[in-house]
Amino acid sequence: MPRSQKLRVLFITSEVYPLCKTGGLGDISAALPVALRALHSDVRLLLPGYPQVMAGVKYKYKVAEFNTLSQFPPASLLSARLPLSGAGSIPVFVIDCPGLYNREGGPYMDAFGHDWPDNALRFGLLSKIGAILGSDTSPIAWHPHIVHCNDWQSGLTPAYLSFYSGEKAATMMTVHNLAFQGIFPPGSVVQLGLPPDSFDINGVEYYGNLSFLKAGLYYADQITTVSPNYAKEIQIEPLGFGLQGLLAARQPDLAGIINGIAITEWDPETDHYLIKNYNSKNLSNKTANKTALQQQMGLTVDAHIPLLGVVSRLSHQKGIDLLIQIAPQLIKMPAQLVVLGRGHPELEHLLSTLAQAYPKSIAVHVGFNEALSHLMEAGIDCFLMPSRFEPCGLNQMYSQRYGTPPIVHATGGLLDTVVDCTPVTLANHTASGFVFYSMTAASLLDTVKRAVLAYHNKKTWQSLQKNGMAKDFSWNASAMAYQELYRRLLH
Ligand code: ADP
Repeated sequence: MPRSQKLRVLFITSEVYPLCKTGGLGDISAALPVALRALHSDVRLLLPGYPQVMAGVKYKYKVAEFNTLSQFPPASLLSARLPLSGAGSIPVFVIDCPGLYNREGGPYMDAFGHDWPDNALRFGLLSKIGAILGSDTSPIAWHPHIVHCNDWQSGLTPAYLSFYSGEKAATMMTVHNLAFQGIFPPGSVVQLGLPPDSFDINGVEYYGNLSFLKAGLYYADQITTVSPNYAKEIQIEPLGFGLQGLLAARQPDLAGIINGIAITEWDPETDHYLIKNYNSKNLSNKTANKTALQQQMGLTVDAHIPLLGVVSRLSHQKGIDLLIQIAPQLIKMPAQLVVLGRGHPELEHLLSTLAQAYPKSIAVHVGFNEALSHLMEAGIDCFLMPSRFEPCGLNQMYSQRYGTPPIVHATGGLLDTVVDCTPVTLANHTASGFVFYSMTAASLLDTVKRAVLAYHNKKTWQSLQKNGMAKDFSWNASAMAYQELYRRLLH
C-alpha cells in the first residue's frame, strides 16, 4: 500500500475515557486514536452501547442492523462521535443491543462486583461485529485495512476473521494486562458460533476452557503490548500467566510499544487541580502544593520532611502489602506517607489502621478521586510504585512530569521509563527516579532510604526533578510506532 494512502483502522475497545473507564485501557482508547489521526490515519472506534456510552456520544444515527446473528440478540450499529474536548471529533461505531448492554453497573461487573453472567455474549458480540466490519460482508461502506483489538474483550475478532475466507482486514491484538484473559466454559465455543474444532490447544482452548485472549493471541496477525520490557516478561513464567509458550512461539510477531500520557491533562504548568502551578524553572512553587496536601490530609505541615505518596488500585499486583510492612520504619526516617486508593478490603483496612496509629505521619484516602490524584502528583516529593508487575504504568510518567521522582520495582514499563539514580546516571543527566530489583520489603526499604538521602541533597534532587520533567511522554512517538506496524502488516 503506498505511503500516501490513508490507513483505515477500526480500533475495538470495551472502554474509553470519559464515557466509561475502569483503568488504563480507557485512557489509551481516548488518546491513541487521537494521536494516530494527527498522523493522518483514519481511525474509528467500535464500542458496546452501555447506557453511559449511548448518552455520551454525539450525533448518533443508525447505519446497520444485525438481526440474523443467530447466537446473539438483535443489535443495530450506530455511527457517532466521541465527546472529546480539543481533540477534534473522533468517529465511533456503537453497538446498540439493549438485551446485552442496557443495564446499570460497570462494563464487566454488576454493582456488587460480580462478573456479568452473560459476559461471553456481551463481548462475543463486540468481537463478532468487529470481525464483520473487517470483512467484505460488512454492511457499511467504510472498510478498514486493519482491525486493532484491545484486551480479551475483542479477542475473538481475529478468530472469527481467521475462519472467514473472503477479503478481510489484517488484525492486531494489543495486550494491556495479560492477567485478564476472558475465560469461559467450553460450551461457549458453540454458543458463540466458533467452529467446534477450534477448541484445541492450537486454537481458542486454554487449559480446558475457552479464552478470548488466547484466541486473539493465537489468530491475530500481529501482537503488541504496552512496553518493550513487558513484551519480554510475558514470554516466560510467571508473568506469562500460562500463555508464555504461545507468546514465545509468536515472538517474531510480538512488539512492545510504550504508552504515552495525556500531556495536556497532566501538566504542572496548567493543571487546574493544583494550588500553585509550576515548571522546571520555578520548582519552588511546588512547595505550596505540598503544604496544601499536608493540611488537607491532616499531616504535620513541614516543607522539609520527605512526603512519599501512592495513587493506585489496592491489589496484590501493586505491591501495597510491601509498603504496609515498611511503613513504621519509613516514618522513623523521618518521612510522611499519603495513600489514595481503593480495592482489596483487607488492604484498605490495613492502611486505614496505619493512618489511625500515626495520624500526623500517615494519611489514607480510600476512594477514587481525580482531583486529589493531581494534587498528590504535585504535592508529594516521591511517588511509590512497588508493583509486582506493571505492563506499562502511568503514574511513574505523571510523577516525572510533575518533578516528583518515582520509586519503582524493576518490572514491565516501569523499567522502560524510569532511570535509577546512580553517580553515572546523575553525571549523564538521565537519572529520574529510583529502581529496586528484588520484590522484598527489605529491598523496597533500602531504596526508600536511598531516595530520602538524595532528597536531602538539594543539588541531586533538583537534577532528578529536572531530568524527569524534560522527558517527552507524549503519545506522538508511540502513535508513530503503531502506524509503522500497521503499514508493515499490510505488506
Ligand atoms: P492500572 O490500569 O493497572 O490500574 P495504571 O497506572 O496503568 O494502572 O493506570 C491507573 C490510572 O488510574 C492512573 O491514571 C491513576 O492515577 C488512576 N487511579 C488509580 N487509582 C486511583 C484513585 N483511587 N483515584 C484517582 N485515580 C486513580
